[in-house]
Amino acid sequence: MSSVMSNIPCPNCKYEGAICDAYSNGDEYVFCERCGFSYSPEEGEMKNPLGSWCCLIKGAGQVGSIDNKEFIKSLKSHLEGDKEKEIDECWFTFKKGKQWYVHDLIADRIMPFGRFKALQRVVQELER
Ligand SMILES: [Zn+2]
Repeated sequence: MSSVMSNIPCPNCKYEGAICDAYSNGDEYVFCERCGFSYSPEEGEMKNPLGSWCCLIKGAGQVGSIDNKEFIKSLKSHLEGDKEKEIDECWFTFKKGKQWYVHDLIADRIMPFGRFKALQRVVQELER
């Protein structure tokens, strides 16, 4: 089964870069890295996510939605326990006022989501 990935505006936060994975059988999966909105045929829409999270270990990783504050605690303690491993990226997003931010747990810094994505693009260019 093949799939086509494209960017669509997020139905939840209007971010232009939400990821849409469309499969040849008609199934569609949507995930927004900014607000954590997700849609899948199995689970439907995730309503009112608190944000998204991402953890990359040696290039392989996981992303997901955050639906409760406890999750952030467990993400942090997971990171504490995994100090020996080479974690490339570990961050989560949150909204304050009208602005989305990224808390980068590796660098332990917080920056606006837009700037974080711009930085990521620069790093990807340099690593090519
Ligand atoms: Zn969104």
